[in-house]
Amino acid sequence: MMVAKSTAREEAVKKIKVTKTEHSRVGEVDFNNLVFGKKYADHMLVADFDGKEWVNAEIIPFQNFSVSPSNAAWHYGQAIFEGIKAYKDQEGNPMIFRPYDNYKRFNLSAERMGMPSVPEWLFIGGLDMLIDLDRNWVPTGEGCSLYLRPFMIAADEFIGVRPSETYRFAIINSPSGPYFNKPIKLLVQDKYVRAFPGGVGYAKAAGNYGGAMYPTMQARKEGYDQILWVDGYEHKYLQECGTMNVFAIIGNTAITPDLSQGTILEGVTRDSVMEVLRDMGLTIEERPISIDEIVTAYNNGTLREVFGTGTAASVAYVEELDYKDNQLKLDTTKYEVGAEVIRRLDGIRTGKAADTRDWNYIVGE
Ligand code: PMP
Repeated sequence: MMVAKSTAREEAVKKIKVTKTEHSRVGEVDFNNLVFGKKYADHMLVADFDGKEWVNAEIIPFQNFSVSPSNAAWHYGQAIFEGIKAYKDQEGNPMIFRPYDNYKRFNLSAERMGMPSVPEWLFIGGLDMLIDLDRNWVPTGEGCSLYLRPFMIAADEFIGVRPSETYRFAIINSPSGPYFNKPIKLLVQDKYVRAFPGGVGYAKAAGNYGGAMYPTMQARKEGYDQILWVDGYEHKYLQECGTMNVFAIIGNTAITPDLSQGTILEGVTRDSVMEVLRDMGLTIEERPISIDEIVTAYNNGTLREVFGTGTAASVAYVEELDYKDNQLKLDTTKYEVGAEVIRRLDGIRTGKAADTRDWNYIVGE
């Protein structure tokens, strides 16, 4: 197995102060019955940006923040986050899946939101130290993982509208079971829009999620799981589904929307899935794809599969896709491509299959 080593860890060990908990809560967790995002690992990482540099980096027992009601993040939404997963290999060593890709995306989000970038020692080295310490929190059950949540919020106590000068960076981790365990139903509508060119769609900014809540609630009332977001001009070019990137398998080609408009979050899973699909011999096309093209392929029998991809769900099969008068029903029990993608990705992430692309970051010295 490849062992990815980070000099970031050495720097982190020098700079991050560690205060361990006296009472681990790991025994209170039912690892056979994990609910996503309910329990948090014993420790968290915190650091402050003082206007010039990152200071006070510490790993401490999981605890509340004390925040002023005038905190700028509350009011104007300078808040970004990441979602990453850690697994264990067959010998029980914790590994983080492609954390450098999330690190790059985090700093891209920071730039778009006028926030400072985070150094590698803090993000990568901090994750390494934290998961090393909380290694007992990384579950080993089928489809289970430790979900890692780095985030940054504005910290100024000031309600004038301007970029905050100070910030807080933190990482919290939550053991999680399989996220979507059933196929999903998607609604395409032309009322609500997630992102426009020139906007913040490509950033993992908190407001993108806040803005999606109401339209998603409306779709849920009608029996759908997620919205398949489309562009805001013609209301027909696919963007993403819920909080996942989207793929359509038409014949022997996998099509996924391209990123050129800046309206789509560049998923780490999206990239991994494209690589695996290529290994499987499919042709990959990153290009604009319209809902009309999907409906046409459905009607002429060439649409084989539609699925969403993301860290939380990995691959989520779409069993129904509704657009105006078209109701597309797909038999997900016949999804061979999606199933093989899941099998291959799971194999790599848990060390059962060779990690030829060095995607796994091995935690610890
Ligand atoms: N799109 C959105 C809007 C998301 O929130 C996510 C989840 N991070 C994704 C796509 C998938 O990205 P990833 O594969 O990196 O989790």
